[in-house]
Amino acid sequence: MKFSDLGLSEPTLKAVRDIGYEEATPIQEQAIPQILKRSDVIGIAQTGTGKTAAFTLPMIDILANGRAKALMPRTLILSPTRELATQIADCFTQYGKYQKLNMALLIGGESMIEQERLLSRGVDVLIATPGRMIDLTERGRILLRAVQVFVLDEADRMLDMGFIPDIEKIAAKLPTMRQTLLFSATMPPEIKALAKKFMRFPVEVRVDPPMSPAETVEQFFVKTNTAEKREVLRSVIRAEDVKNAMVFCNRKRDVDILFKSFTKHKFSVAALHGDMLQGQRTETLAAFRDGAAQILVCSDVAARGLDLPEVSHVFNFDVPVNPEDYIHRIGRTGRAGRSGRAFTFVTAEDFKAMAAIEKMIGKKIPEAAEFSVSMDEPPPEKRRRRHRGGARRGHGRPDGEKRAEGKPSTDGRAEEKKPVRREAAPKKGAKPERTHNRAEQKKTAFGDSLPAFMLNGKKS
Ligand code: AMP
Repeated sequence: MKFSDLGLSEPTLKAVRDIGYEEATPIQEQAIPQILKRSDVIGIAQTGTGKTAAFTLPMIDILANGRAKALMPRTLILSPTRELATQIADCFTQYGKYQKLNMALLIGGESMIEQERLLSRGVDVLIATPGRMIDLTERGRILLRAVQVFVLDEADRMLDMGFIPDIEKIAAKLPTMRQTLLFSATMPPEIKALAKKFMRFPVEVRVDPPMSPAETVEQFFVKTNTAEKREVLRSVIRAEDVKNAMVFCNRKRDVDILFKSFTKHKFSVAALHGDMLQGQRTETLAAFRDGAAQILVCSDVAARGLDLPEVSHVFNFDVPVNPEDYIHRIGRTGRAGRSGRAFTFVTAEDFKAMAAIEKMIGKKIPEAAEFSVSMDEPPPEKRRRRHRGGARRGHGRPDGEKRAEGKPSTDGRAEEKKPVRREAAPKKGAKPERTHNRAEQKKTAFGDSLPAFMLNGKKS
């Protein structure tokens, strides 16, 4: 459907034309007319569906009449992360360029003085993360009684991050006569309860999630042990045709360690996690978007919901504890029918988490056996020797050369590039395959403690 059929004003339509959007997305088509009618709306849609424009475009038109008073914003948008809040602010700037709207962004990591200065001048649009918002309302620096439109973006993620009590406190300060818009990818019972409490006769609009990445992404697992994990990861990156990649860790500390390790090994890398200052995070994202960094090492919280480029590969350096995070992670690749590959590095401790993932996606993930090494932790002495060998092999070569050299080959050269103690000989062009035979599996030093998920079709 055309944007011009949705009831938006001419200046807003002109801004949309300038950006080059040709058609409204399904969530925009359904939500924009309802928001313009001033209904409360529950939008069930994920990031990537165009949901930000679905609420910012009509809000710009609603705000076009009237002016803000000092410390009394006319709209409030709560967003779970600083990056998402920044992306929403960017949308208001782009889509509202022909209307005069004042906007303030209240997020952690930015100067509080500057944010308070903007507020004291009066803002039409206030975009905030719940933590910073609570700070300022409790100190009486913001008065919420003039809010006409209240938006809760990514409500299910707010729930995951423990923000619901903060949101309830903030909502208690809003006027009862207001319009409330709630967007969420899923509707767990807690969010349904919140909607019932906060909203009046909400209209529900829903778009089907795009085809699950579990269907579109080629997925593999690689057996490893903790000590050799980084080396195994490097060997996969070198062997694969990696255009750009995201590498996920479960802990911030490991994001830092892995970033340093990649840097030492001369990979083009950037890192992103929740403890970084806003300026650093913005710079990192820009470097990854424009290709200045080929690999982004990150944690789940930092990466969810961001408008990041399509990547050719996703590497789960750690198996995610929550199987839903696995879907989010691999969903960063293989979009819009393009090919994407995801590799998950599995140690002996991960079998439960891996089994939960396979259960959730409803299929077995095959092993990229040519990259696998033993899951037993090597004794310290052997580890030192192995690592010395690994470092010598890769040292001083440009990235491209390393990658080309690591490709699987039948003449045995590729063998040199791979970590020692491998379990399967590499075959040229061989498709990574799961080991089907239990007797064969036993050879891989598991003995009878073989994790269930490794036994094809025999998972308990
Ligand atoms: P969102 O779901 O809000 O995170 O939007 C995902 C991406 O879709 C953003 O990069 C938007 O710029 C883009 N987008 C939003 N609406 C449209 C549209 N109607 N046509 C094309 N792209 C769009």
